[in-house]
Amino acid sequence: MASFDLFVIGGGSGGVACARRAASHGAGVALAEPNRLGGTCVNRGCVPKKLMSYAAAFGRGFETARGYGWGVAERPKLDFRALLANRNREVERLNGIYGGLLRDAGVEILRGRATLRGRDKEGLFRVEVEGRHHAAKRVLIATGGHPACPNAIEGLDLAVTSDFVYEQVYDLPAKVAVVGGGYIGLESASILAGLGAEATVIMRQEKPLRGFDEDVRRELTEQLEGYGLRFMPSAQVSAVERDGDGLCVVTERGRVAADMVINATGRLVKPMTDGIGLDEIGVHRNQGGAVLVQGDTFESSVPGLFAVGDCSDHGGHGLTASQYDLTPVAIAEGRAVAEGLFNDNPIEVAYDTLPTAVFCTPQVGSCGMSEATAKGRGLDVRVYTTRFRPMLHALSGEERKTFMKVVVDADCDRVVGCFMVGDEAGEIIQGLAVAMTAGATKAEFDRTVGVHPSAAEEFVTLYQPRKG
Ligand code: FAD
Ligand code: NDP
Repeated sequence: MASFDLFVIGGGSGGVACARRAASHGAGVALAEPNRLGGTCVNRGCVPKKLMSYAAAFGRGFETARGYGWGVAERPKLDFRALLANRNREVERLNGIYGGLLRDAGVEILRGRATLRGRDKEGLFRVEVEGRHHAAKRVLIATGGHPACPNAIEGLDLAVTSDFVYEQVYDLPAKVAVVGGGYIGLESASILAGLGAEATVIMRQEKPLRGFDEDVRRELTEQLEGYGLRFMPSAQVSAVERDGDGLCVVTERGRVAADMVINATGRLVKPMTDGIGLDEIGVHRNQGGAVLVQGDTFESSVPGLFAVGDCSDHGGHGLTASQYDLTPVAIAEGRAVAEGLFNDNPIEVAYDTLPTAVFCTPQVGSCGMSEATAKGRGLDVRVYTTRFRPMLHALSGEERKTFMKVVVDADCDRVVGCFMVGDEAGEIIQGLAVAMTAGATKAEFDRTVGVHPSAAEEFVTLYQPRKG
C-alpha cells in the first residue's frame, strides 16, 4: 500500500494549490479527482463564465463603436455554437495544464472518488480510491460544492443550473428566466442577455446581491435595467411548469414564460461531504455539511484532517461561509495549509480585505466592509461616493454611468471598504485590495497620484465626504 505525507481529496482550486505547494516543499503527495482537473472554477465556473462574458461584451461594443466612427452597417451575427465549442476547447487545454503542473511538482494523481476508511494503529488515515487503499499522515478535504435545488419550488428539476450553462453545448434561448439574484443569477442573466436573449431575474429580495453594499445594489439594479435586463423583485417562486413548448416560472406576483429556466438558488456542500467517511472518524460539520475548521490552521476536529475552499467553514469575520466561496480564497487556504504543514510558515489569509467581482455588465468590484457592516461593527465612518459618465461613452452617446464608493474608519482614517459599479471594476478593485490589505489610510489614497485619463483615478481624487 502506498503511503503519503498528504492525501488531497479533490482536484479543484483549493486541492490543486495545496498539493502543488506541499510537493514543492518535499512532501509526498497524492491527489484524488474523479472528474476533470481544475474543479468548478475551470470546468463550470469562473473560466467558462468569463469567456462567455467577453463574448457578451462584444455585442455591446459594436454599438459603442459607432460613436467612434466605425460604420457597423449590419450587426455581426453571433455563432453561439462556435462560441461554446471554442470555450470548451480552452477549458480542455486548461485541464491538461493542471495535470502537467501537478505531475511536474511530483504529485501522484489518482483518478477516482476518494473515501476515507478510518485510521490504522499507527494513526495513518486510510483512503480508498477505485478499490485501492492508500495510507496518509494527513488528509485535505477540498471537495467543493454542488448547485442547490430547494424542495419548496415544485418542478425545479425542469430548470438547468449553471453547470449546464457553462459546461454544455446548447442553443441560445430566446427567453431566459433566472431564479435567484446572487452572483450566478446576475452573471448568467447578464451574459445571456448580452448575447441576445431576453432575460428576467426573479428574486425574493427587492434588490440583487444581498450582503453587498446597499448603494452598489441600488446602482447596479438601475444600470442592469438600462442594459435590458428585467427584474421581478420581491417574488417568491412556487413552481416551474411546462407551458406548451416552453416553460413558465410561477410566482405570487405573476408568471414568467421562458425557453430556459436557470436555477441559481445557491450552492450546497452536503452532497460533496456526505458518504466520504467523515462522520465515521468524528469530523464535525455544520448544518449545511461544511467541514468545521480552525480559522488559522484549517484543521478539523480530527487532528491531521484539514479542509479548505467551498466545503469548509471557519466561521467568523462577520461573513457567512458562502461569502468566502471564491477561487482565490480556496487557493490561499490550500497554500496556507501546505505552508503551515511543510514549510513551518503559517500564513494568515486576508479575509477582511477580500476582493470580489461580479462579472455582469456593468461589473461590480467590492473589497472590505460595506457601509452597513462597518456601522454595525460600531465604526464611525466617513463615506465618499462619485457617479460619472466614463470617457468611453462621451462619444458613444450611451447613457452609461460609473459609480465608486469609499468607506473610511473616521477614528484612524483607514480605508475599510471600496466599491465600484462600472467597466473593468474587477480589474480596478484588485489594486485597491493591495492598498487596503497594507492598511492604507484615506490620506494615503489622497497622496497617491492618479493615472489620467482613467476611471480608476477617481478613487484617489475623492475629496468631500458625503453628508448625512
Ligand atoms: P471545487 O473547485 O469545486 O473542486 C472540488 C473538486 O473535488 C471537484 O473537482 C470534485 O470533482 C472533487 N471531488 C468531490 N468529491 C470528491 C471525492 N470524494 N473524491 C475526489 N474528488 C472529489 N469564484 C471566483 O473567485 N471568481 C469567479 O468568477 C467565480 N465564478 C463562478 C461561477 C460559477 C458558475 C460558479 C459555480 C462558481 C464560481 N466561482 C467563482 C466560485 C469558485 O468556482 C469556487 O469557489 C472554487 O472553485 C472552489 O474551489 P474548491 O477547490 O473549494 O472546490
Ligand atoms: P448566492 O448565495 O450568491 O445567491 C443565491 C441566490 O438564490 C440569492 O439571491 C438567494 O436569495 C436566492 N435563493 C436562495 N434560495 C432561494 C429560494 N428557495 N427561492 C428563491 N431564491 C432563492 O449563490 P450563487 O449560487 O449565486 O453563488 C454561489 C457562490 O459561488 C457565491 O456565493 C460566490 O461565492 C461564488 N460565485 C462567485 C462568482 C464570482 O466571484 N464572480 C460568480 C459565481 C459564483 P436571498 O438573497 O434572498 O437568500
